[in-house]
Amino acid sequence: MNKFSPGQISEFQTRLVDWFQKNKRKLPWREKPNWYKTYLSEIMLQQTTVEQGLPYFKKFIDNFPTIIDLANSEEQRILYLWSGLGYYARARNMHKAAKKIRDEFAAEFPRDYKDALSIPGIGPYTAAAILSIAFNKTHAVVDGNVSRVISRIFAISKDIRLSSTQKQITEKAKLLLDPENPGLFNEAMMELGALICTPLKPDCNNCPVNLQCRAQAKNLVNEIPYKSPAKAKKKKFNLVFILRFNNKICLAKRPDTGLLAGMWEFPVKELNAKQFESFGENNLDQNFGIINTGPTVQSPKYRHQYSHIDLTYQAVITDLRDSVVQLSDYYEYKWLNFAELFDYPIHNAHKKILEWLKSLVSG
Ligand code: SF4
Repeated sequence: MNKFSPGQISEFQTRLVDWFQKNKRKLPWREKPNWYKTYLSEIMLQQTTVEQGLPYFKKFIDNFPTIIDLANSEEQRILYLWSGLGYYARARNMHKAAKKIRDEFAAEFPRDYKDALSIPGIGPYTAAAILSIAFNKTHAVVDGNVSRVISRIFAISKDIRLSSTQKQITEKAKLLLDPENPGLFNEAMMELGALICTPLKPDCNNCPVNLQCRAQAKNLVNEIPYKSPAKAKKKKFNLVFILRFNNKICLAKRPDTGLLAGMWEFPVKELNAKQFESFGENNLDQNFGIINTGPTVQSPKYRHQYSHIDLTYQAVITDLRDSVVQLSDYYEYKWLNFAELFDYPIHNAHKKILEWLKSLVSG
């Protein structure tokens, strides 16, 4: 009972696409669409909601109206405009991708799937999405939304994290795909997952394909998809130094590889949990060769979640006797006026510290 007949498939496609054409959201990449807008939106919306991604899409289209403008930009400018969206490797890959498309594909997105996969930051999902939506190529798209819809339509109750389950879901997505209108069909599936077949409380009464949904028929909608618990994240503790000298503040650039590569931050010292809890003014001097001249001011403790790390951190304002600091972990550092800090691509965790500093300055 896991198979759809050709008639059922055709009915599914018609119902879904009709619903999409009447109910799709007005989104800027759907207005006068082209592959560049599809490309930007697909990269930006990975691990990001449409609401979070919208202002960034507008910023990028305004600053880089074409792939050549993006390719010709400085990486630091791209990181600056991306700052706040997280997962910064996407921004750096976007710059590399733009240069490759400009130099090797005459500023056109390649129509061939293998060529598309050769572009930095483009994996099977993004390649399928761009090729189908922008060029109507027959590739099934399976993102988180589509996985959920398909697992419910076919009542697939196995752990959705397993690659064998994802393989099964991809096969089903290929089975349902409308070869005449693959782009429209893929967009419709993603939209159904975003608007109707939501993770919690899906709106089955208004679902265009509810009569063909096995999970609905078996009353399993709340049990599917099943996701095994995530592995515990590694806990890390950072002491963050707001180093001040002559009314300037030190900002440092992270190395060009690894987590948050190329982003700027206030210098950080990683501590273990015990050191972090017992931190006080009297052990400041052991860090960065710092000679502190006055009482310190400490920020509240913050938490920030990365995909594999649960970070707790606290900032401490430290006045120095001179501007020589030992920041060997960093690519470079600068002494900046308070207002100049806002011109640099500072990553999200330290943006919270910047906001805290701003509240001290304005309060
Ligand atoms: S009927 Fe409900 S569970 Fe099934 S696809 Fe539609 S919204 Fe999702």
